[in-house]
Amino acid sequence: MKLSQPIEDLPMVNKVYAQRLNKLDIHTVEDLLFHFPVRYDDFSTLKNIKDLRQDDEVTIRGVVEKTTINTVWRNGRRLTIVDARIQDKTGTVRAVWFNQFYIKVALEKARKEAKEIYVAGKVLDKFGLHFSSPTIELARNNPIHTNGLIPVYQQTRGVTSRWLRYAIHHALSQVAVREFLPKDFFDEQWFVKNSTALSHIHFPQTLEQAQKARTRFNFEKLFIISLANLQYKNERQHDKTTPIATNKQAVQEFIDSLSFSLTDSQTNAIQEILNDINEPAPMNRLLEGDVGSGKTVVALAVAFNVIKAGRKVAFMVPTEILANQHYKTITQLFSNFDITVSLLTKNAKEDYSQSDIVIGTHALIQKNVVLQDIGLVVIDEQHRFGVSQRASLLHSNQATPHLLSMTATPIPRTLALTLYGDLDISFLKTLPHGRKPIQTYLVRDLKDTNAHNTIQTELQNGRQVFVIFPLIEESEKLQLKAAQKQYEILSKTMFENYSVGLLHGRMKQADKDAVMQQVVDKSIQVLVSTSIVEVGVDVPNATVMIIEEAHRFGLAQLHQFRGRVGRSSLQSYCFLVSQTNNDRLEAFVRTQDGFSLAKKDLQLRGSGQLYGTQQSGIDPQTIDLIQNPDLVELAHQKAQQLFLFVADNKTLNKKVQQQKALMHPE
Ligand code: ADP
Ligand code: MG
Repeated sequence: MKLSQPIEDLPMVNKVYAQRLNKLDIHTVEDLLFHFPVRYDDFSTLKNIKDLRQDDEVTIRGVVEKTTINTVWRNGRRLTIVDARIQDKTGTVRAVWFNQFYIKVALEKARKEAKEIYVAGKVLDKFGLHFSSPTIELARNNPIHTNGLIPVYQQTRGVTSRWLRYAIHHALSQVAVREFLPKDFFDEQWFVKNSTALSHIHFPQTLEQAQKARTRFNFEKLFIISLANLQYKNERQHDKTTPIATNKQAVQEFIDSLSFSLTDSQTNAIQEILNDINEPAPMNRLLEGDVGSGKTVVALAVAFNVIKAGRKVAFMVPTEILANQHYKTITQLFSNFDITVSLLTKNAKEDYSQSDIVIGTHALIQKNVVLQDIGLVVIDEQHRFGVSQRASLLHSNQATPHLLSMTATPIPRTLALTLYGDLDISFLKTLPHGRKPIQTYLVRDLKDTNAHNTIQTELQNGRQVFVIFPLIEESEKLQLKAAQKQYEILSKTMFENYSVGLLHGRMKQADKDAVMQQVVDKSIQVLVSTSIVEVGVDVPNATVMIIEEAHRFGLAQLHQFRGRVGRSSLQSYCFLVSQTNNDRLEAFVRTQDGFSLAKKDLQLRGSGQLYGTQQSGIDPQTIDLIQNPDLVELAHQKAQQLFLFVADNKTLNKKVQQQKALMHPE
């Protein structure tokens, strides 16, 4: 039997079972064998009946002395109780089952045929020692449900762990699983062949065996991801593109035109990127810097160089608010130079075809924009985009342009290697000079005196305030109502002397833009908003960020909100309003460092919440593997060593191609 055969080819799988298994995403024999246990019950201890103690989790071996069946009513429900007496040479013990009539049939059969059975489960002491709903199995040499480490699987309706054990055990005996990883892995002590690993992960003798087996498969996954990344990177390096020479003088001219001087981090990043685009292979670089670290201007210095070289730039951002904002910033920063800037969103209908730089949302892709001669694509807040969106922007062009992605999401090295192994990374390690740490407070109520005074003082000094609140209603209509109500209350109470604006996701784009424009013009002093201002928004005059029901947000998201203030040399404040005591929020108050917050979030909520990993083409289990840095490093190393040698390994190659298609859909 082959791994690739459909699951129906197994004798115990009829149409009904096949359908049920499909629900667990099991379609082939291979899928079944790779449905790994979620845990093991340890029934490896075999005891004599006379030695049983309360709370034992053990197996006994004996014959069925008698069985009875009773029906009782409990809390208005019918309960069928199967009661058996099991005997070995040292004594007898009771075992009971509830609503499992078929057990009675099995027990009676064993009794009549005088066959020995294993009984495995927990020993309780209520009206005497007894097993409660134990597992039974005819005694034989290699039991699979009792007397050992017993695999427990994720189940679905009509497919029990017991059935899965039976089917997997059978399948394991029928298929020949061939090793496809390169031979030299097996020099490593811990490295188990896949056939062994498969039987060990399902039916281990010891937990260590199970662990080793799991490590092998984890390694295999990471290794394949690493190979897929390397391949992709390699292929892109074979793409040819036109190098863009650095015009030092022009870049300097742009930098000198800024109202501030760049940080060393910014200068270095600009240099790294300029070097990259001066190569004939297309750049694929990620610029990573905490919120407020000044990524935009880095991208613009490079864009300036590209435009001066006679090429064009596409600048893609995730939201229309951000597109509008960038459009204004960029127009202003380039106003002293002969550069045309245009905006392309769902609503803006400018003629972009002659522009030097086009700023847009993913309308840039959807409208099938054909910009002649794009030299550089910048993707801001790249974690917000799906992989396929990123890919199609690149592929919609004739020649592959240089690609600069930017993110404020702090990515640990292991994650970067796995998710973005095909990228080079530049870091902005420092914030611009003169930034003061944002004073952050956790308060139960905005009437808190400190909060109240600070907010009023800031407003009196002409500063602006953001108020964020979470959407907790299920329906959009109710959300809208809640937003409006909040807005009305705040504008009549705390902020009655100021002009208050409201921003939420259901507003028309033109209205959103109008509100944001008023914020920038300072005609709105207080902006009440749903989480849509989370990314990128830059209003340096805003100094107070208030987050209502702060416990409802993840740390990474809170960090993004807080990053909307503290964007100038003014002292800024962040108030987290929450009535629940919460370690997370307290940790957030203490640290400003996005990286350590992200790590904390990773521990607390799992990485699925972070990094936009849902769109990475990598499944959640693998994402969790990333928390094992040693294994990630090893897989990466091995992939680099063996990269050139695995090409003629058919099975491995197929797996690598599949992974690559997941991560980089064309
Ligand atoms: P982010 O990295 O979060 O995208 P931005 O690029 O929006 O940050 O920059 C945040 C603010 O800091 C902007 O108002 C920008 O003009 C300003 N800024 C950028 N670099 C510097 C610098 N070197 N010195 C002072 N202000 C800077
Ligand atoms: Mg930004």
